[in-house]
Amino acid sequence: MSAVLPTYARHELTFDHGRGAHVYTRDGARYLDFSGGVAVNSLGHAHPALVSALKDQAEKIWHTSNLYQIEGQERLARRLADASFADVVFFANSGAEAVECALKMARRYHAARGHPERFRFITFDGAFHGRTLATIAAGGQDKHLTGFGPPMDGFDKVPFADIDAVRAAISPETAGILLEPIQGEGGVRVMPHGFVRQLREIADEQKILLLFDEVQTGIGRTGYFYAYEKFGVTPDILASAKGLGGGFPIGACLATALAASGMDAGSHGSTFGGNPLAMAVGNAVLDVVLDEGFLEEVRDKSLLIKQKLASVGDEFPEIIEEIRGEGLLIGIKVKPQVKLVIDALIGEGLLAAPAGENVVRLLPPLNVSVDEIDEAVDIIRRAAAGIKSRDMARTSN
Ligand SMILES: *Cc1c(COP(=O)(O)O)cnc(C)c1O
Repeated sequence: MSAVLPTYARHELTFDHGRGAHVYTRDGARYLDFSGGVAVNSLGHAHPALVSALKDQAEKIWHTSNLYQIEGQERLARRLADASFADVVFFANSGAEAVECALKMARRYHAARGHPERFRFITFDGAFHGRTLATIAAGGQDKHLTGFGPPMDGFDKVPFADIDAVRAAISPETAGILLEPIQGEGGVRVMPHGFVRQLREIADEQKILLLFDEVQTGIGRTGYFYAYEKFGVTPDILASAKGLGGGFPIGACLATALAASGMDAGSHGSTFGGNPLAMAVGNAVLDVVLDEGFLEEVRDKSLLIKQKLASVGDEFPEIIEEIRGEGLLIGIKVKPQVKLVIDALIGEGLLAAPAGENVVRLLPPLNVSVDEIDEAVDIIRRAAAGIKSRDMARTSN
């Protein structure tokens, strides 16, 4: 019996090594990895620049704590700020921690301005913000909350993209609005751009903060450095993680100087956050993602894969209901049970991640090749054909 706490229903697959978009089991079976460690392996596996950044740093110094200056942290914070709306960055080790920082920062902002009563957040149906006690309360999903005691107070959930419900939920206790511009775990649900723009207006009008959880959508995943650019809406605070480390654990909370103005020395902390190893890898990821033309290529590949998937959808309307998403965060809403489709894809050599609303999520590395896209689309076509012929055999019996 495994000694690992059984919180995951895992596939019977163990990977030994990976190269680019492919992973290999010990006995040499090869899979095209479009699950990407769930949006983490932004540059695929064993990217030479990331490997050498980690090795070089490992030979210098691993950890010093935040009691001292950390060069790589200064550099990564500066680069993230220069590439975004932000003025300042706090480093953590995961997405949930980045969101925690965002929530604490927003509360502290109001408290420092004489409004400690402003501590509540408006959140959305279908959201996912992590698995800590605060972030499961923010996500507001029964399946994550059940059995863990009273959910932390301070979150007012409204229906997805319902502007009237947002207005109605605002009270003198509201500190901010927290959203994923595209709900990843929720099923690659893109918030309507006009809706997100209205949230910005409401936040300004009510003097509350707009918090984006871009843990999944950030660092080029949508074809923009952060998805807010695509929406034409600038947040006050943004949580980043996943792709920023390319596989090394890292979280970051980005903010304007104003939104961060309540966070003084001693107000927040993390032992490992901003550790030299994580910073070395994060900087190496940015070297690639911020390179000229890189994000444009992501957008071109997005168009290509969506067109190809749409044509598979036309061939198999009984299997594929809709193709959605931005950049290389792609959702295929399927009609059969999503688990059955994922298993069929694995059977054909493609790894994909399930998401809410019966969606198969594709998260290829951002540097995926056109050949690899073709390979994935062929596999998806084969898997769809396989499921269809099995279904036809069943119904004709
Ligand atoms: C994955 C994810 C998180 C949680 O990140 P962890 O690193 O697992 O804590 C939070 N928000 C969003 C949008 C995510 O996709």
